[in-house]
Parts: sequence; C-alpha cells; structure tokens
Amino acid sequence: MNGPTRSAYRVIVVGAGIVGLYTAYHLARAGAGPVLVVDRGFLSSGASGRNGGGVRQQWETRATVRLARESVAAYRRFGTEFGYNVWFRQSGYLFVAETEAELARLRGVHELVVSEGLPSEVLDAAAVARRVEGIAPGAVVGGTYLATDGTLYPFPAVWGLYEAVRALGVEVVLGVEVLGVEASAGRVAAVTTRSGRVEAPTVVNAAGGWSGELSGRAGLAVPNVATRHEIFATEPLKPFLDPMVVRASDGLYFSQTMRGEIVGGITLRDGAGVAGGMPSSPRFLREMSRALVRLVPRLGSVGVLRAWSGFYDDTPDGFPVIGEDPRCGGFVHANGFGGHGFMLAPAATLRVARAAMGEPIDLDPALVSPARFLSNDRPPSVERLQLG
Ligand SMILES: Cc1cc2nc3c(=O)[nH]c(=O)nc-3n(C[C@H](O)[C@H](O)[C@H](O)COP(=O)(O)OP(=O)(O)OC[C@H]3O[C@@H](n4cnc5c(N)ncnc54)[C@H](O)[C@@H]3O)c2cc1C
Repeated sequence: MNGPTRSAYRVIVVGAGIVGLYTAYHLARAGAGPVLVVDRGFLSSGASGRNGGGVRQQWETRATVRLARESVAAYRRFGTEFGYNVWFRQSGYLFVAETEAELARLRGVHELVVSEGLPSEVLDAAAVARRVEGIAPGAVVGGTYLATDGTLYPFPAVWGLYEAVRALGVEVVLGVEVLGVEASAGRVAAVTTRSGRVEAPTVVNAAGGWSGELSGRAGLAVPNVATRHEIFATEPLKPFLDPMVVRASDGLYFSQTMRGEIVGGITLRDGAGVAGGMPSSPRFLREMSRALVRLVPRLGSVGVLRAWSGFYDDTPDGFPVIGEDPRCGGFVHANGFGGHGFMLAPAATLRVARAAMGEPIDLDPALVSPARFLSNDRPPSVERLQLG
C-alpha cells in the first residue's frame, strides 16, 4: 500500500498544495530534518490546481502588501530557482470602480501601496478604456493600476515545488488522508491515516479549504470557513487584454491567458462548507457571463469552453492563519488564505516553516496567529480587499 516509508518524522505537512509544498521546501532548505508531506488527493486536486493565477500587491493593509511584494520577487526568480517556467507575466492588475465611493476606496489602497514603494497609478475612465479594449462607455469612473502585478500558470509552480522538495529529501505521499491528530501532554504526537500511525512532534495544517475540518479532527476548533468559488475559461481570442481586471463592486475578475482564453470568476454568495463538493453551476455561468458582458459587451459572442470550482479558505478578518496553535504545541497553522493563497504562499510559508521549527517570525501575531481567534478582542485590522 502507498504510504510513508518511516514511522516518525520531524515535521508532517498535511496538504500538498502550493502552501504545503512551499512550506516543505523552506523546511528542507533550512535542514529541519525528515519531512513528510501527505495529501489525500492527487497533485493540484485542491485550490492550487483550480485558481486564476492572479498575483497582486494591491491590498488594504500594509502587512498583506509586504507579503505579496515578497512573493512577487519569489515568482520572478521561480524559473531559475526551480527550473520550471510558471509564465509569470507582470502585465498589471487593474481595479475598476463604478462609483466615486469605490474609487475613493481604491485611492486609499493606492496611497498605501505607493507608500510601500510600488508604482501604483490612479486612472480616470479614459485611461481605463485604453487598457481594456471594448469596455462599455460609461461603465467605470476610474480605477487603480499596478504594473508589477500579474498572472502565472499555477500547475508548473506546483510541479516545480514537488520536484524540488523530493530532490531535497522530502517524502511526498499522495492518496493518503490524515484521519486524526494525536496529542500527548498538550503537544502533537502523531497523525493517524489508513496506512497507519505516523509520529511527529510538529504537524502543519496546510489543508486549504479543508483546514477547518483537519483542525477539528485535532480537537482544535477554528473559525475558518470553506466557500466554493467558480471560474471559467473561454475559447481563445486574439490577444487584446494585458492586465487582470477586477471590478470593485461585485468582485468580477478576468484576464487573458497567453493562449488567448479569458479566464475569470465573480463573487457569488453561495453558502459555506465542503460538503457539497466542487461542482459547477448554471447560475455561475449566467451571472458571470452577464457581469462580464456588461463591462465588455463584445465578449457576448464568445464561447465558454470549460468551468470548474474550488474552495477558498476564509477567515473572519481576511488574514491567513500562520503559527503554532496555543492550545496544542507543535500544531502549526498554514491556512486561511481565502482566494489569495497562491500569491502569498512564497513569503507566508517562509514564516510557517520558521514557526514549525520553533523560531520567532516577523509577522504581527495579532494579525496572523491562531491565538487571535481565542480572545474576545476586536481584530486590530481587517484585510477587506477580498476581490479577484
Ligand atoms: C476559483 C478560484 C480562484 C482563485 N484565484 C486565485 C488567484 O487568482 N490568485 C491566488 O493567489 N489565489 C487564488 N485562489 C486561491 C488559491 O488557489 C488558494 O488560496 C491556494 O491554492 C491555497 O493553497 P493550499 O495549498 O493552502 O490549499 P490546496 O491547494 O487546496 O491544498 C490543500 C490540500 O490539502 C489536502 N487535504 C485536505 N485535507 C486533508 C486530509 N485530512 N488529509 C490529507 N490531505 C488533505 C487536499 O487534498 C488538498 O490537496 C483561487 C481559488 C479558487 C478556488
């Protein structure tokens, strides 16, 4: 039977998505000792194989801007570091506003981003129209544009990491589910799987949309909520669009891939939880198509080739959960990345790996530590720009 080769590891990472694999990479490079990555699915079966590949640094809080900026630098060097081309194309992210109130909000984002040294621009409606050929006249009042944001192909990123960690001696076992997490004297001791019990003093919860389920199996309730998001790809069109476009009002986002397809989605309030699986719905096709064609009418005649869905792993304050759980030593969270885990993973997982090795991390615990959910204090800050 497919299963781990050892009975004990220094660290077990649950989840072989971008977060789990990047964490394993940082751990291996730091010489953490034997590391096991275990996933019940196949490579890219979670959100890491189902996302829009958007990588942006425009955020409403400084902490997120910084993580994203560091991650952009990591994706720029991904090809040379891992020998896999993720086709990271820094062709910009364009947030568009339909009202002056939305534009004022985007201006606030712009000012923060500029104060972090990034070349954000505020655009009027005419400047937006120059970047989005065929945009409906009067559809927007303006927007913000950051040229160093961009898009990449998620699959080669996962494959590159998979190869890299194995070359560094990490064991990656696919098709094996972690059914439980055992603790002894307030510390993680082992995980249980159908292939047997595997010991480790540290377990990293990188289970994406299922992280709440896994924490629950460890007896550690968390407020993470999985929400299903759908996305589609159209037939290929002649290149006409450079940036990823995101509409502030409804979260409509779309970009044109290098193959010419329009890939995008929209925020639908669809209910929460993983129980319904990952289907696609006619409602999404209808609402997404309507929203897209309202903004760019000439896309009305374009055929949709495929649609799929995946889970965001949302937290109440929009920040990820990074660090050791105060209720159980060695249980380290690496989750709660909402719809933006791909773009934050390189930088965020460096901190996860340090936390897993018992080292201090340079992120404000009031923002990212799981401890924030255990107090009744109001969150000191909320990352609200959960769009696109
Ligand atoms: C439609 C859509 C569009 C998105 N667009 C973007 C975007 O443009 N940019 C961006 O940055 N992010 C985007 N995201 C979000 C991004 O994909 C995720 O935040 C990111 O992939 C999370 O990575 P992960 O490794 O934490 O989770 P996943 O990739 O979901 O991996 C978690 C893994 O854990 C495994 N697992 C779960 N439970 C267990 C268990 N008990 N035992 C063993 N294995 C288990 C699962 O099988 C899964 O493979 C999007 C997401 C979706 C759904």
